[in-house]
Amino acid sequence: MAIDSRPISYSIVIPVFNEEAVLPVLLRRLDLLLARLREPAEAIFVDDGSSDSSSIVLQALAKRDPRFRYIGLSRNFGHQVAITAGMDAAQGKAIVVMDADMQDPPEVVEQLIAKWEEGHDVVYARRLSRAGESRFKRATAHLFYRILGRMTDVGIPADVGDFRLIDRKVLAVLRQMPERDRFVRGMIAWLGFRQTEVTFHRLERAAGETKYPLFKMTRLAVNAALGFSDAPLRWAIWCGVVVSGLALLYGGWVLMLWMSNDSHLVAGWSSTIVIVSLLCGINMLMTGIVGLYVGRIHAEVKRRPLYVVQKRLGFERDQATPAHPALRELHE
Ligand code: UDP
Ligand code: MG
Repeated sequence: MAIDSRPISYSIVIPVFNEEAVLPVLLRRLDLLLARLREPAEAIFVDDGSSDSSSIVLQALAKRDPRFRYIGLSRNFGHQVAITAGMDAAQGKAIVVMDADMQDPPEVVEQLIAKWEEGHDVVYARRLSRAGESRFKRATAHLFYRILGRMTDVGIPADVGDFRLIDRKVLAVLRQMPERDRFVRGMIAWLGFRQTEVTFHRLERAAGETKYPLFKMTRLAVNAALGFSDAPLRWAIWCGVVVSGLALLYGGWVLMLWMSNDSHLVAGWSSTIVIVSLLCGINMLMTGIVGLYVGRIHAEVKRRPLYVVQKRLGFERDQATPAHPALRELHE
């Protein structure tokens, strides 16, 4: 094979966790895809601590064929961290993330690239249907995207996984987001830029079992909710307000009965209920207020950039170079 000396245009990042069953078909389809692309491309496999033969196969391939690269993580760090490791190592002008199991068809990658060539910075692939997945997985995924959409004001697109293309300048700013509990698709939505979508029908897994059991799915959902919404913190305040409000109303009513010497009033009982529910309400309210401060701290420790600049005009005449490393890369 002739070695292409042109710079790499496309990087395809593929996380792999015990995927020996799908590797033969994956490698064949990838080979065809890379051959079809007009510009030079690399495929980066991130081995997320596989304990099967995936590691050996992929390492051998990376040694043999210059289009393929291999990153072996020291243990299973999880899908979101694996794709981050792959994107960090990508050299292309456009970076595509796709699953190893052929549920994200390689043909769609060409559509993503076509949209990127039209000038979009983020092109995500939205699933019109999901074949071969249990009713439970489809229902929970559907619900998850809907609830998340209501909880956050970041426009996280529904029915979109991590199968997407991002421009190099988006990657540069994404790398300025060092948060540890990562929900990459949310982080990219948060960044903005010119985003668009292509649609596809999600296929069945080509072989093997899902590597996303219920506990990993739950962890992802919790990361998404906590990372992109502080609505749960505000719920405590509202609960507190409602409970203390009801306690006060009840207290007023009891006081009225007492003043009118109503015979229905059981001595000692009503006053206890009023005091207990009022204290409970105040407690919830205070927890909620503490929560708001915790929310601030949480936002600070994520250390996200305050804003992201897409373009600057008219500054070229100045001597000053932008201070932020992310901006510096945007300028290059
Ligand atoms: N994966 C990974 N680390 C994990 C779990 C999954 O790198 O801890 C990879 C997996 O090999 C696949 C992709 O992430 O390439 C998506 O996983 P899977 O297809 O099992 O998820 P599903 O499609 O069932 O949600
Ligand atoms: Mg899959």
